[in-house]
Amino acid sequence: MKDTYILTNLLIALLVINTVIKAWLEKRNRDHIRENRSEVPALFAEKVTLEEHQKAADYSIAKIITGKVFRTFGLIIFVGWIFFGGLEVLDTFVRTFEQGPIVTGLIFYGLYILVGMVLELPEGIYTTFFLEERFGFNKTTGKTFVIDMIKGIVLGAVIGLPLLAAILWIMGALGNTWWIWAWAFLTAFQLVITWAYPRFIAPIFNKFTELEEGEVKDTVLALLNRCDFVSKGLFVMDASKRSAHGNAYFTGFGKSKRIVFFDTLLEKLTAGEVEAVLAHELGHFKKKHIVKKMAMLFTMSFVGFAVLGWAYSSEVFYHAHGVSTPSAYMALILFSLIAPVYMFFVTPISAWHSRVHEFEADDYAAEYSNSEELISALVKLHKDNASTLTPDPVYANFYYSHPPAPVRITHLKNSGAN
Ligand SMILES: [Zn+2]
Repeated sequence: MKDTYILTNLLIALLVINTVIKAWLEKRNRDHIRENRSEVPALFAEKVTLEEHQKAADYSIAKIITGKVFRTFGLIIFVGWIFFGGLEVLDTFVRTFEQGPIVTGLIFYGLYILVGMVLELPEGIYTTFFLEERFGFNKTTGKTFVIDMIKGIVLGAVIGLPLLAAILWIMGALGNTWWIWAWAFLTAFQLVITWAYPRFIAPIFNKFTELEEGEVKDTVLALLNRCDFVSKGLFVMDASKRSAHGNAYFTGFGKSKRIVFFDTLLEKLTAGEVEAVLAHELGHFKKKHIVKKMAMLFTMSFVGFAVLGWAYSSEVFYHAHGVSTPSAYMALILFSLIAPVYMFFVTPISAWHSRVHEFEADDYAAEYSNSEELISALVKLHKDNASTLTPDPVYANFYYSHPPAPVRITHLKNSGAN
């Protein structure tokens, strides 16, 4: 009883602390952007017009306000599920079907996710068709939006339900050490998805065509040669179907990889700038950032499963979070709802770690390509994404996975001078 009380109150306390910190950081950021709205930072004076700078400020502020509204809404849903008996009501309902534990779990999950999708629909619609639309980024039509949603549901069902059934089976059948097996199974599954995603899943949502012959291709091939990188094909993805934001990435295992450019990136950048952007991505690969990130992810999920192993067999865990009857599927749902509340304090650490990697990748690009080209690509991409050049430093330190553009450019200028 006492433990239940402690766990409930710990969750409430963390929710309050997290909410206060988030609100405080957002307010700082909004104020900082507003204060710097009237003048382009000196570093960008020649490259960014006042109009573009102000558009970025307005877009950032609009995103902050929208985020605040929907975050509050999300908090209400969370409280509804846990503190006002939402999960308990749904659980009582699915138990009336009198199925075995795995089927009951699948029905529970199906309904839970469906309810979640309906509740999150306003945010998706507002963000895509109002916020992004207002600033000219949205390319998604109503039709694409609906088709994407249907594809997402089908894909989620085809992949998610068997996966969930397997984990529920492991939880019920493999005794006290089930969580180690479940972790191993999920880790193997993630590796398979990483392999299968570019081949089978991404083509469901986008079209991939081979990069045309020409200056960009020649420049890119020369860079790959210089970096001793074997590519398994250069592709262009029709990202412009959905958004005007630009990007480049590559996928695959081992030494050979598919390199994918967003068509939006190729439209906006010169061959030299594309080369510099790709060199940055190659830097991530060469410095083993991708492998390191995966290793860290798997370690963290191992710890997560150990905690889940404890929670699953502890009545306190259910009672403290508004559920009367323990079950495998309920343990999973509760854990996935609550873990982010406890993990909030990890955000600045992982953001910092990611920024260290960005600097290293920029250094690599400066060495094998050209730092001036990367700077001019960054400025262009920043303009197109309308990210603010003047975020609050505390906010940026807490959340940003990439250093703010002025910081990154200053770093590149220094490393280019070496
Ligand atoms: Zn990067």
